[in-house]
Amino acid sequence: MATQRVLDFLATRRPDGPCLVVDLDVVRDNYRAFEKALPDSRIFYAVKANPAPEILRLLASLGSNFDTASVAEIEMALDAGATPDRISFGNTIKKERDIARAYEHGIRLFAVDCEAEVEKVARVAPGSRVFCRVLTDGEGAEWPLSRKFGCAPSMAVDVLRRAHALGLDAYGVSFHVGSQQTDLTAWDRALGDAKRVFAMLAEEGIVLKMVNMGGGFPTRYLRDVPAAQAYGQAIFSALRAHFGNQLPETIIEPGRGMVGNAGTIRSEVVLISKKADNDNVRWVYLDIGKFGGLAETMDEAIRYPISTTHDGGETGECVLAGPTCDSADVMYEKTPYPLPLSLTIGDEVLIEGTGAYTTTYASVAFNGFEPLRSYVI
Ligand SMILES: *Cc1c(COP(=O)(O)O)cnc(C)c1O
Repeated sequence: MATQRVLDFLATRRPDGPCLVVDLDVVRDNYRAFEKALPDSRIFYAVKANPAPEILRLLASLGSNFDTASVAEIEMALDAGATPDRISFGNTIKKERDIARAYEHGIRLFAVDCEAEVEKVARVAPGSRVFCRVLTDGEGAEWPLSRKFGCAPSMAVDVLRRAHALGLDAYGVSFHVGSQQTDLTAWDRALGDAKRVFAMLAEEGIVLKMVNMGGGFPTRYLRDVPAAQAYGQAIFSALRAHFGNQLPETIIEPGRGMVGNAGTIRSEVVLISKKADNDNVRWVYLDIGKFGGLAETMDEAIRYPISTTHDGGETGECVLAGPTCDSADVMYEKTPYPLPLSLTIGDEVLIEGTGAYTTTYASVAFNGFEPLRSYVI
């Protein structure tokens, strides 16, 4: 929940309009918790979760590496003080000229998931390290990643063999078990696949060195989630089970788990109404919605904790919607959200756990609403 520093900031600065406030102390604690939970893994912060310069600078100073998806994100990480050897270009879908730009910036670590992408990297980033992403089932994740990224493990063998033949360093295998993953065994299944790719290529004399275990580490929303330490233990024993004494280098790429709980959105109730006299469900319209930064409420996937100044009083079911003129701008309707009956127009509400995947998802000016403001303290 919102830290005292965030509450003090909101009380004294009273910024106008909806805004996100991120507490860097929480980000620092999260970084240290990952370091402690998986001491032998390098941490590559997934920049897309929240690229605020203050966050990137803090993480760079703590020794973090950075997982980026575009030239712009690479430049943000460099500006924050990371050297190129601490940055991966982890998007499997890249324009060849962007790979070339990354190479000019000194980046030498690239994700691929098919031979066509390997060929691009070989042409404009010769000799670089590449890792091949394999598909996972995404089960257990609240924000699964579908089949868009990765290939079947058997195909990863072909992709990495091709990389090797083209003079690249066939460096390893990556996967992402799905975001907000609360099933600790998800990594075990994926590590089993990774090991099989290692073994098949070893038979051909191609020795992989690294497993990139991706993100997926959760933020606490309405339900408790296991602590970083529990993830560390589950992942370490899965590594031991599959790789025995020959443990590969490992990478983790936390995004949500690094910044989610560090952020709180302050919003205001614009309107409360009903659709019929005999309807008990209130419609509560906030000054932020799906287009203002809460895109992860799509399909009601992520359910944020919401606190009000009336908490503790009697509650009733609400449909929660945003302020724009798009009928899709409804956050929670299929599963209505309980809010205090005494909630009134003009009240402030705090939407918790919103440090990840909010500011960058806000639209530029839909209906003239400005993008979500952010304060990093
Ligand atoms: C988005 C992303 C991450 C971060 O995922 P979280 O679930 O937020 O931790 C990590 N790795 C890659 C390749 C990603 O695209």
